Amino acid sequence: MNQKPMDEDEIFKKLKEFKYMDMDYSSGRILGSMCTAVHPIAKEVYSDFLESNLGDPGLFKGTKAIEDEVIKEIGSFLSLDVPYGNVVTGGTEANLMALHSAYKIAISKGKIAKTDIPEVIVPKSAHFSFKKASEIMRFKLIEANLDKNYKVDIEDVKSNLSSNTIAIVGVAGTTELGMIDPIEELSEIAIKNDIYLHVDAAFGGFLIPFLKDLRYELPNFDFSIPGVSSITIDPHKMGIAPIPSGCIIYREKKYLDVIAVDSPYLTSKKQSTIVGTRLGAPSAATWAMMNHIGRDGYGELANECMINTNYFADALFKEGFNVIVKPELNIVAFNHPKIETEKLEILLKNNGWMVSTASYPKAIRIVVMGHIRHTHLMDLISDLRKIRESLYI
Ligand SMILES: *Cc1c(COP(=O)(O)O)cnc(C)c1O
Repeated sequence: MNQKPMDEDEIFKKLKEFKYMDMDYSSGRILGSMCTAVHPIAKEVYSDFLESNLGDPGLFKGTKAIEDEVIKEIGSFLSLDVPYGNVVTGGTEANLMALHSAYKIAISKGKIAKTDIPEVIVPKSAHFSFKKASEIMRFKLIEANLDKNYKVDIEDVKSNLSSNTIAIVGVAGTTELGMIDPIEELSEIAIKNDIYLHVDAAFGGFLIPFLKDLRYELPNFDFSIPGVSSITIDPHKMGIAPIPSGCIIYREKKYLDVIAVDSPYLTSKKQSTIVGTRLGAPSAATWAMMNHIGRDGYGELANECMINTNYFADALFKEGFNVIVKPELNIVAFNHPKIETEKLEILLKNNGWMVSTASYPKAIRIVVMGHIRHTHLMDLISDLRKIRESLYI
């Protein structure tokens, strides 16, 4: 650090140089991100709440009421009238909280002892945050196989059950392919065996309900399914709220209570979140987006993304690329029978397209967020054609 203060102009000038190295969503070149451009209203609201600390809610009663309203409103489109939960930093933290609750519930019911190694069954397609959770919490992570549509294989989940199973996880909108697991069938298993069922809808949660409003035929995934104990849903993905905004929603208060610890020096007596000091701005900005956009607005956005997704998948097929699976949500994964995926990724990046890859199966993966317009996809198809032709394929 410099000894003498740096003046304001210099600060802004230097930071601008750093920012210049960042990518910009408006370029339409960020194709692998699940986050998107920030709405001007969200920006303003965010800066208005930069001092509020939800870790000490007695001092910030208004901001706490905002967080409660966000949870309540999200519950309303996840078929839960009285939801419990928090606005957290994202899907990773939400998943960690859910599994922490599952563990404490299993202990409190005497289903496992503290000396046992707990087991959690997730689909092979689950987000890597479950690997982190398993290392932090020291449970054994069991990856169930997928069926031909890249959804979890129910029979494989059943065959992996043991007396140490504390939770089963289903994904509604997998990170790599956007597929929705058969949550109803997982629920039957969970109820029959009295096991906690967590649904990771970090990505799909702000899409599926609104696409269903528009009569898209998608499987059910929410609290209307009786075995579902908790759902992760990220406003900072398809909810277009600024980062960091994730949510953990619980069916019952007891799931929050079992993970609470005493918080002596603060205005609240107990705290369930992993993070202590926690910014209120993401809650306020999420509230602003949900109320400003509304259920209809999210429907329009989701529909637009799906139209672009379907256009892109069809165009890829016509160009001789292999679309891994018919998109259920706005993610398209593809490869080419004669071009190695790693090579295709490099060639696309050389052309300025920031794509990402799926690991299972190996494919280029495009998340068709709202910042990606039809014209961007037309340009991308045109570049893919040029790449193919340059390789004489
Ligand atoms: C993005 C994502 C996560 C992780 O969320 P972060 O906000 O990055 O922590 C977890 N699960 C799924 C299905 C996701 O798509």
